[in-house]
Amino acid sequence: MINSAMNKFPFQFFRKRLNRKIPQAPASNPRHSASMVAKTGQVFIVGAGPGDAELLTIKAWKCLQQADVVLFDWLVDKSVLAEIPRHVKTEFVGKRSGRHSMLQQDICRRLVDMASSGLTVVRLKGGDPAVFARTTEETAALQEANIPFAIVPGITAASGASAYTGIPLTERHCAQSVTLSTAHFKDPEKMPDWQSLAKATQSQTVVMYMGLSRLKDIAEHLSAAGVKSDFPVAVIENACCPHQRVITGCVSDIAEKVNNAKLTGPALLIFGEVVKSRQQVATQLLQQVTHVTGF
Ligand code: SAH
Repeated sequence: MINSAMNKFPFQFFRKRLNRKIPQAPASNPRHSASMVAKTGQVFIVGAGPGDAELLTIKAWKCLQQADVVLFDWLVDKSVLAEIPRHVKTEFVGKRSGRHSMLQQDICRRLVDMASSGLTVVRLKGGDPAVFARTTEETAALQEANIPFAIVPGITAASGASAYTGIPLTERHCAQSVTLSTAHFKDPEKMPDWQSLAKATQSQTVVMYMGLSRLKDIAEHLSAAGVKSDFPVAVIENACCPHQRVITGCVSDIAEKVNNAKLTGPALLIFGEVVKSRQQVATQLLQQVTHVTGF
């Protein structure tokens, strides 16, 4: 389904070794005898990072090369999918807020079934699997089925957006810590603790995931909880991707600005004085990184 772009990736270094180590599933290599195929499979829950494939860890990339099958969701960028070798099966289990194409319990079952049949499965998640990624629901299912699994971290959207916009997450003059938060709860009736978040903004950076569609509401609640109307906010859409967009403003005007810019997401909201400390990063240099790594 997806073409490999291994030649474009600066990890040729590993390819020789990897080619020797890749376990072949019966489906992809019928010449292998049954005795050569592991009876119990395994699952790697892998962070794909926020966009740019070159932000994958080396371990994540190696997992993709060694997989029999990769299950991925909507946040995984095309450039990352292009790193999956052609012989590896891929399956989209797209989960997007409000538009789940596959129920979480079905994804869990699929993981268990595939690994039980002896396959090496990579569950590829956008960003970091430990941040708003429902990883524990999947690991609980695997544990119950006695399937060995491991987690490979990825760069979370907050770190990626920070680097690719130049907005620091902490800054010793105004933000001693950073809160990763969401306005999106399993129970849609549930609301964030606005008073605590408003208080946090006084000395911390508050990064909000999955908040774009509720931005107006969030800004109003924070305002009502005491955040000043001119408090700085940044909204970053498609962080780390070539089409990244950044809108900056303040609590009182950010919703209107974002509405006018017609952002559709994925987007991250950053509430904090750090927005004013934005550095002038030359992101085009990051597009040329393959020329300077020496691989
Ligand atoms: N595990 C992911 C977060 C998944 S929750 C991580 O660690 O980044 C999904 C939310 O993440 C999106 O609604 C958006 O708020 C944020 N997000 C993920 N990728 C993003 C990107 N490239 N740019 C901006 N926001 C992103």
